[in-house]
Amino acid sequence: MQGRKPKLKLGCRSAALRVSMGMDLPPLTPSTLYLVATPIGNLEDITLRALRTLRECDVVAAEDTRRTGQLLKHFGISKPMVSYFQFNEAKRSEEILERLQRGEKVALVTDAGSPGISDPGERVVRAARVAGLRVESVPGPCALVAGLTASGLPTDEFHFIGFLPHKSGQRRRQLEALKQFAGTLVLYESPYRVEKLLTELTEIVPDRQVVLARELTKKFEEYVAGTPAQLLEVVKKRHLKGEFVVLVQGFTAEAA
Ligand code: SAM
Repeated sequence: MQGRKPKLKLGCRSAALRVSMGMDLPPLTPSTLYLVATPIGNLEDITLRALRTLRECDVVAAEDTRRTGQLLKHFGISKPMVSYFQFNEAKRSEEILERLQRGEKVALVTDAGSPGISDPGERVVRAARVAGLRVESVPGPCALVAGLTASGLPTDEFHFIGFLPHKSGQRRRQLEALKQFAGTLVLYESPYRVEKLLTELTEIVPDRQVVLARELTKKFEEYVAGTPAQLLEVVKKRHLKGEFVVLVQGFTAEAA
């Protein structure tokens, strides 16, 4: 043992600090599209990896550059941004592909949550894969997962619907088609249509348990559970606002 220098042991805190500062970590890979999940309300929900990716990428492709600009500012990050939203996905996908082909590291972020989940992203991911480019997920917040896992409804099997169409006939047909599905149904719904959705559920699946997961990760987060008719009463009485994930118990022989 003589003459051997004692190894410097990093305490837990220093090791965490090194990781948070991006030290000891391999650099981002050139020509890679990073899908970076961002908070759905609580800013503490950003991951260390998301921050490092945003800090080290060449450009951020954002659904709304103003909104993402605020997020970056909050975390002290200054980065060039390009807009990438639903109605310019085709054109912007080509530009992003060109950047990737030039060797750039592109971080794609949406207004909140995971890109590609009821949000833009799918098109550029497909195009990048077809072109043989690297795509990496930087996972994090997602309203679907947050709402489902805390709802108390079965999580082993579920069907994510996202937003139903606006037209009544189409909505009804889609709900009818999923009526016999055994797993939990998960929907995103605008506060303006929650009442409409509950009315539809009252007619189509009146005996199922439904959970309204509202304002997840925010100050007024709550889970309201009941039959569609019970929830309809609550919504009418309390005029619930904010963002909603709606979860519907799946088909069971008992409920039938
Ligand atoms: N990509 C996002 C994700 O990963 O969850 C979803 C984007 S989608 C355009 C927005 C919808 O997600 C909202 O209308 C609402 O249904 C749901 N949502 C987003 N944030 C939420 C929150 N904090 N609480 C409840 N629902 C939320």
